Amino acid sequence: MIPSAYGAAEARGIWLYLEQDEGEMVSVARELLGRGRQLADSLGVPLTGLVAGKSVQHLAKEAIAHGADSVLVAEHPLLEPYTTDAHAKVVTQAVLEGKPDIFLIGATTNGRDLAGRLAVRLRTGLTADCTDLTLESGTNLLIGQVVGFGGGIVANIKCEVHRPQMATVRPGVFAAPAPDAARRGKTQALNVDLTEDELRVKVLERVMQKTADISQAKLLVVGGRGTKGDLSLLQKLADLMGGELGVTRVAVDAGWATHERQIGQTGYVTRPELAIVLGASGAQQFTVGIAEAGMVIAVNNDEDAPMFESADYCAVDDLFQFLPPLIKQLQGAGAR
Ligand SMILES: Cc1cc2nc3c(=O)[nH]c(=O)nc-3n(C[C@H](O)[C@H](O)[C@H](O)COP(=O)(O)OP(=O)(O)OC[C@H]3O[C@@H](n4cnc5c(N)ncnc54)[C@H](O)[C@@H]3O)c2cc1C
Repeated sequence: MIPSAYGAAEARGIWLYLEQDEGEMVSVARELLGRGRQLADSLGVPLTGLVAGKSVQHLAKEAIAHGADSVLVAEHPLLEPYTTDAHAKVVTQAVLEGKPDIFLIGATTNGRDLAGRLAVRLRTGLTADCTDLTLESGTNLLIGQVVGFGGGIVANIKCEVHRPQMATVRPGVFAAPAPDAARRGKTQALNVDLTEDELRVKVLERVMQKTADISQAKLLVVGGRGTKGDLSLLQKLADLMGGELGVTRVAVDAGWATHERQIGQTGYVTRPELAIVLGASGAQQFTVGIAEAGMVIAVNNDEDAPMFESADYCAVDDLFQFLPPLIKQLQGAGAR
C-alpha cells in the first residue's frame, strides 16, 4: 500500500477548506463550520479554517464567529478567481505543514475539483459527496455517509490508515450555525508562492448565470408527476411568495425541470421554513429532501397518498383547482 504523505500518528485536528467567491464565503462553508465544530468538540481537537483568495482576510472573523478556533489565510492575486493549480498548490503545502487528521471540503463544483486533486497529491482517500459525517465509536475514525448507485445504496465509508481523512459534503445537509460575534480565535497568514507560469488555466472572462439554489430557499413550492409537466401555476405561487420552485425526480426525468431543482436522495437536501408540495406521492427518496422543513403543506387528489404522513397540513384536492384561488387571493393581498 502506498503510504500517505503523513500518517495517523502525526495527524491532529480538523481542517475545513472555506470556499469563497469574490470575498464572500459560500454557504456550504458555514455549514461545514457547524458540523466541524461538533466533531472537533467530540474529539477534543481544534477546528481550523483555511481560506484562500485575493483579499479574504475579513473572512477569518466570519469563520471564527461561526465556530473556527483558528483560520489560515492565503492571499494572492493568482488565487482569484479559483483555478485548480493555484488552490491545489497552496492548500497542499498548508496541509503538509499543518498535518490535519480530518480535512473537509464543500461538494461544490470547485470543492469537488480541488478535493480530488488534493487526495492524489497527499496520497490519501476521499469520501466524496457525503450526506452525513459521524465518528466511529471506539476508533473515532471519520465516517462519511454516501449515497451510491443512483440512490440504490447508502454506504458508510472510513479511511483507516491514510491521512488526512478527507471528505466533501453536499451543500444543504448541515445547518449553518448562528454567528457569535463574541467568539475569539487566531488568524495566521500563510506564505503564498505562486507564479503565473505554474497555472495551466487562465480565466479570461467570467460569465455569471443565475441558477436556483434550492438548498438555501426559505420557501419551496414543489411539484411532482401530478402537475403533468405544467409547472406554471407553481412557479407563479413561488414568485408571489418569494420562494423557489422545486420538483420530484419524476419531473426531472421527464424533462419538465432541471436537476438543480430536484429534491431528495439523489437531488438536494433542503431546509425551507415552508414547503408546499403538490402532486407528489411522498416516496421516501423524495421526503428525505424535505425532512428538515419547518412546515410542510401537501396537496394531493388521493386521500391515501403517503405524502400526507410527512405533512403538517393536508389538502385533498386537484392541484389545478387548489392553486388558482390561492394565487388570486395572494395577488389581491398585494404579495410580491
Ligand atoms: C434509488 C432511487 C433514488 C431516488 N431519488 C429520488 C429523489 O432524489 N427525488 C425524488 O423525488 N424521487 C426519487 N426517486 C424516485 C421516487 O422513488 C419516486 O418515484 C418519486 O419521488 C415519485 O415522484 P412523484 O411523487 O412526482 O410521482 P408519483 O409517485 O407518480 O406521484 C404523483 C402523485 O400525484 C398525485 N396527483 C396526480 N394528479 C394530481 C392532481 N391533479 N392534483 C393533485 N395530486 C395529483 C397522485 O395522487 C400521486 O400521489 C428515487 C428512486 C430511487 C429508486
